[in-house]
Amino acid sequence: MKPVLALVGRPNVGKSTLFNRLTKSRDAIVADYSGLTRDRHYGNAKHSGQEFIVIDTGGFEPDATSGIYKEMAKQTRQAVAEADVIVFVVDARGGVSAQDHDIANYLRRLGKPCLLVANKAEGMLEGAHLVEFYELGLGEVLPVSAAHGQGIRSLLDLALKPL
Ligand code: GDP
Ligand code: MG
Repeated sequence: MKPVLALVGRPNVGKSTLFNRLTKSRDAIVADYSGLTRDRHYGNAKHSGQEFIVIDTGGFEPDATSGIYKEMAKQTRQAVAEADVIVFVVDARGGVSAQDHDIANYLRRLGKPCLLVANKAEGMLEGAHLVEFYELGLGEVLPVSAAHGQGIRSLLDLALKPL
């Protein structure tokens, strides 16, 4: 079975851009993975000879109680349950938000391997703007730019190493 990597984070941080980057030039086949429901977005990807599945998710609000947010939270929970490793995406330019804290609290309780990734970090001094993300309590913050393809290799080295 291929390892499964789930992209989680609040809306607009660049999850779908990262999904496209990870699955680019591979056939981004949706739901090509028996037993998984089709209301999330699945894609095939490959890194250093290792094939894996990526799940894109909608924005995540753990305490959402109604409507679309409740449905998005439910789908994200399912994606997280299916994942071997979770990539928690935050916005390097937007800084830490209350929603980021909610998601971090939820992910920390899960006890699954989780990588904290600060997207939109192109052109930013190494780590300089990223110290505030350590307050999320998930350890190392990895700067990437999904749009520009920076930091992606390091991200995948770390994400897939334990799998
Ligand atoms: P999602 O809601 O988390 O799936 O975020 P999207 O992938 O839809 O991206 C939200 C916005 O952020 C879009 O306008 C993207 O073009 C932009 N974006 C995504 N990745 C990057 C990046 O690496 N750098 C910059 N500057 N913008 C990005
Ligand atoms: Mg999206």
